[in-house]
Amino acid sequence: MPEIRAKAEDTTKDNIVAGIRLTHPDRLLWEGQGLTKRDLAAWYEAAADRILPHLRNRPLTLLRCPSGTGGRCFVQKHGWPGLSDAVRRVRLKSEEKQREQDEWLAVDDTAGLIALVQMGVLELHPWGATLDDPDRPDRLILDLDPEEGVAWNAVVEGALAIRDRLDALGLQSFVKATGGKGLHVVAPLEPSAGWDEVRDFAHGLASGLAEERPGRYTANPLKEARKGRIYIDYLRNGRGASAVAAWSVRARAGAPVAFPLDWGDLEGLEGAPAVPAGDPALLRSRDPWQGFFELRQRLPGASRTGAGQAA
Ligand code: ATP
Ligand code: MN
Repeated sequence: MPEIRAKAEDTTKDNIVAGIRLTHPDRLLWEGQGLTKRDLAAWYEAAADRILPHLRNRPLTLLRCPSGTGGRCFVQKHGWPGLSDAVRRVRLKSEEKQREQDEWLAVDDTAGLIALVQMGVLELHPWGATLDDPDRPDRLILDLDPEEGVAWNAVVEGALAIRDRLDALGLQSFVKATGGKGLHVVAPLEPSAGWDEVRDFAHGLASGLAEERPGRYTANPLKEARKGRIYIDYLRNGRGASAVAAWSVRARAGAPVAFPLDWGDLEGLEGAPAVPAGDPALLRSRDPWQGFFELRQRLPGASRTGAGQAA
């Protein structure tokens, strides 16, 4: 990853990136790749313009691996001592009063991203709702999880089948490589329907596919039900649930990045894409999710607010 390295040397002379001082910048986080904490900071700095729109103003679930991917990793959703002020501690404006006490974390800028890297955060997982309206999701996500032995082209077929169903219901969707073995299909929503409604919709879609091809898909998370099939995880659509952000690196072998794909590219892929953080080609190509943030659409039949509604 020559380009990212060169950049890291330019901008981290004092081990300061975006105003945040990195301690142990040479700590190896992905031993196989020789990828250090400084390299990770350089990746998130270089990718900031792409990743921040997916993260900004959302509660986050973080995967921390302070000693690198060879050590212990753990999920963190709330603040902890020593965390920089560049990371926002937020309380949710919620219709469910008792939940307003929860403190969550959010980042809005490059300094926030680098402050997370400094604390050993490798993966970034936003909610499917913003802090402005945490009870009304603005993304619908279907997570395709192939079990052992499922061919990659079956995963692609599944993603396309979901896209077509969503299309038929008037929802345009986008596809993301997870850096793992599956794919995420994401449809932006205007925040309107609540979590239950969005989850039920996603459940209906997943169950519909499973009923049509029970040997291929399941909407049942139980291990037995998933065997040899693709589990279509609709439970990403829930208050407090998350999905890996586009452009987040994964704490997995090879330092693969989760990134947006073009629907048209999907059928040309021979397997789940594993592109390592720092690969200069990743950020050079145009972002295939053109229009993602401008799209205004709602679930079919979703309750609408505003004038003209009969009770
Ligand atoms: P893959 O394609 O390999 O399945 P993935 O990111 O979809 O990659 P999953 O294990 O299917 O990984 O998890 C889906 C999402 O659920 C993750 O992106 C993450 O946001 C969330 N998640 C998974 N495990 C946890 C956990 N232990 N705590 C909190 N969130 C989790
Ligand atoms: Mn998955």
